[in-house]
Amino acid sequence: MNCPVCGKEMEQGKVVTSYSRGVYFLPPDGDADAFILTTKYITKQGGIVLDGPYNTNFPNDSEFSAAICRNCRKIVLAY
Ligand SMILES: [Zn+2]
Repeated sequence: MNCPVCGKEMEQGKVVTSYSRGVYFLPPDGDADAFILTTKYITKQGGIVLDGPYNTNFPNDSEFSAAICRNCRKIVLAY
């Protein structure tokens, strides 16, 4: 895949979290701070749940395929 900013070939890799409550895209004023986090809590803010939400004390990891452009410092993530 080519970088959408500069057009150079991007490197394939992955984005990984460790011990997370999940991964969410949120608008600038969004939050994931609820004591019991739900999908509805995220989506009612205009957010998107990429993984989770996890409300346990067990460690949860998330992993996404991604492409990186080191020239522009951009990552393209598929969800
Ligand atoms: Zn680029």
